[in-house]
Amino acid sequence: MGIRLIRKEGDDILRKKCKNVKVITPAIVELLDDMRQTLKELDAVGIAAPQIGTLKRIAVVEFEEDLYEMINPEIVETDGSHVCNEACLSVPGRCGDVERPYEIVIKALNREGEEYTFDADDFLASAICHELDHLDGVLFTDKATNIQMINEEQMRARKRARKKRMQERKLQKRGMVPRRR
Ligand code: ZN
Repeated sequence: MGIRLIRKEGDDILRKKCKNVKVITPAIVELLDDMRQTLKELDAVGIAAPQIGTLKRIAVVEFEEDLYEMINPEIVETDGSHVCNEACLSVPGRCGDVERPYEIVIKALNREGEEYTFDADDFLASAICHELDHLDGVLFTDKATNIQMINEEQMRARKRARKKRMQERKLQKRGMVPRRR
């Protein structure tokens, strides 16, 4: 199918609880492909199935060139907390601060149906928690404080800042600059 239409706040589907995927059929694989394509097209970090109108527990997050395809994802451990300024494809024009765990361990299935576990911290942890909330009908605006209006130019600036942070983190990983806290 390709790029899908994003459901926006006010659409009932965003408020429903998604069902676990029992069998990974070709339709599920196609759904994952469409989610990836839509994510790329919109230059966003994450997308959850209900955002494109499918009530299944599937989310895709792309961060620092790593792509996380999560089927039936579960957070199995959390540690610490931090506040991240979040925005959402389904809530255009707004951003807000959301407190979430600083570190999480996620268990999910990949598109081959194999279980895998990985950990995420900082921005990535927030992004994954945000997407997993969508699977339970929760929007970031339910949890956010300091909600502000954001225009398209500000949204573009956010994306540029995100990419810059990504570059910095890449350098830090290679040990080229001291880690900033
Ligand atoms: Zn969202």
